[in-house]
Formats: sequence, structure tokens, C-alpha cells
Amino acid sequence: MSDLETRQQAFARLFPDLPAYRQRQAAAAVFNVEWGSWTDVSPLPEAVRATAASEIPWITHNDHLIQESADKEAYKAALKLADGSGIETVLMRNRRGHWTVCVSSQVGCAMKCTFCATGTLGLKRNLNADEIVDQYRFWRRLMHQENMAGQITNIVFMGMGEPLANYEAVREALQQLLEHTDIGPTRITVSTVGLIPVLNQLLDDPEWPPVRLAVSLHSADQRTRERLMPTTYDVFLTDLAAWAERYLKQFKSRRRHLTFEYLMLAGVNDDADHAERLIEFAKPLGKVKINLIPYNATDAAYAGSPPDQVKRFAGWLTKAGLDVTRRRSLGQDIDAACGQLANKQ
Ligand code: SF4
Repeated sequence: MSDLETRQQAFARLFPDLPAYRQRQAAAAVFNVEWGSWTDVSPLPEAVRATAASEIPWITHNDHLIQESADKEAYKAALKLADGSGIETVLMRNRRGHWTVCVSSQVGCAMKCTFCATGTLGLKRNLNADEIVDQYRFWRRLMHQENMAGQITNIVFMGMGEPLANYEAVREALQQLLEHTDIGPTRITVSTVGLIPVLNQLLDDPEWPPVRLAVSLHSADQRTRERLMPTTYDVFLTDLAAWAERYLKQFKSRRRHLTFEYLMLAGVNDDADHAERLIEFAKPLGKVKINLIPYNATDAAYAGSPPDQVKRFAGWLTKAGLDVTRRRSLGQDIDAACGQLANKQ
């Protein structure tokens, strides 16, 4: 957990005698897109506004750099945090003409997935809840200021970092987003490499919000997954299947469906044998979705599967009765696509 003080902690420290409703007003205020500083928050007493303005940063980053894809369907922002750390966040137009925000949960990442640019950075530190929600606030404010059409309807935790390795801050960020935005839990997805103890913990945690989960599977073949994701231990796939069964039993509703992400890598995990392994893994679980993701070349030693092969692979899975979706890839020209966030600025 980051030891950085959050806005709410700072507010409580500075104004210990204020009633609880003032705390709630302050927590909600930062999500009001019309307001750009504490001095704008008219419901708070003037003296409180003035102290807050000098003591509590309104937003956790102090500089940003935005890149825009040529088709204007994706934007990437590099945000500079108070301690000088850099993170990246992405805004993408989705199929319905609305927008999805992809947030980072850590500065760097310790998971070392071999296809991922962020993995090469190592872990610098966890983000706190404010630093996570402020990525959403950044885009919301920018869209408001620029009069951009459409709304932010979805948030995905698929940027830099492994969200479940920063459990408390991610949970708090989810709670804030659900409380202070109109984005519902089925429109928020937390993506993980599959940290089994934490996945079990969240099933037992009444405070964990009912958001969607996506587990990055990328291969149902032990050797191949070990090569792609060093977090894979010798009985990982067995443990993951057992956890998925538990999840599906606990949340029978379709709204809480479980997704397995599958990055399509040429000659690595995209042939008929790998499709067979995946079918053997996922079919017995029942209601799961397989999301095939086109791979965007980074400096790593992999290439994305050609579109024809992705189509063939999807066909094998569909024929076996699996629920398969294929993700569009956006923002490749600005390195904003999955696995490309590496702070090149
Ligand atoms: S894919 Fe995700 S979990 Fe793996 S190294 Fe990259 S950021 Fe970390």
C-alpha cells in the first residue's frame, strides 16, 4: 500500500472537528466536473475551502502530456505525480461511440510478463486510491473542457501494474468510482494475471465491489504460460480452474460473468493445439467468456497473430461452444494499446 496520504485522510487531519457530512461533501466535490479547485466548492465554508486549497492538492498529478491517435479514437496521457513518478492512462472510443478509460494501478509492475512493455520497468511503487481515480477525473475534465462528444461509460484496470497486487487502494478506488460517478459495477473491469490468494480473498471480502473480473490467461498450456508469465507456478492452471468454479458458483448471474483474456501471439499460442488446450480448460467451467486480444508489437520478442489466424482460432473455440469475443485494438500508433504503456516520455 502506498503510504501517501489521500485527500480524505488529509481532510480529516486538517478538519478533525467538522461533521461527517462535510467529509462526504469534500469526497464528492472532486468528482464535480464543473469545479477545478477547492475554492470552487461552494457548499463548503469559506475558511475550509481556503485551507483545503493551500494544503490538499485538488488532483494528484501536476503535469501531463497527451498523445492522440491519428483516427482520434484513442488518447494517451502521461501524468507526472507529486513525487515525480510517471504513469500512463488511456481514453478509447468504444463501439457505441462512448468512451472507455484505462487506468494504471501501480508505477511500473513486478509481474514481468514477457510480452509487456510495463513489465520491463519493474515495480516502482503502488498508487493510492486518489492517484487511480484521478486518471478518470483527468479525462472527464478534459472531455468537458474540450466539449468532446460522448460520455465515459466504462473503466478498465488494464494500464500499468497488477491491480490485485495493490488490493486496498484498488478497492477504495472502485468504491469511490461507484459512489461518485454514474458508471455501474458491470461497466468496470479489473484485469489480473491471476494472483490466486488475492482472487480468493476478494470472494470472501464483503467490501469488494461487484465489478467484473478479467483474468489474463494467454495460454492454457503450462509451459507456454510459464514462458509468457513468470508468475505461473506448477499447479497454477489447476488452482485457477478451482477458483473460477468457486467464482461462478458464488456469482451465478450473467452480469458478473468471468472473462479470460487471451493475447494472440504468432506461433506461440495461436495454433489448433493451443485452441484445444484452451477448450479443455474453459469448457468444463461453463459460463465464461474468452476475449481474444490482438497483440501490439512492443520491443519484446513477439509478433501478433495475423487476422486470419485470429479468426481461425476464434472459429475453433466457437465450434466447441465457447463464448468468444475479439477485441478491437486502438491506439497502436501512440503506444496506447494493451501492453504498450511504458513511459516512453
Ligand atoms: S501485462 Fe500487466 S501484469 Fe503483466 S507485466 Fe504488464 S502490466 Fe504487469
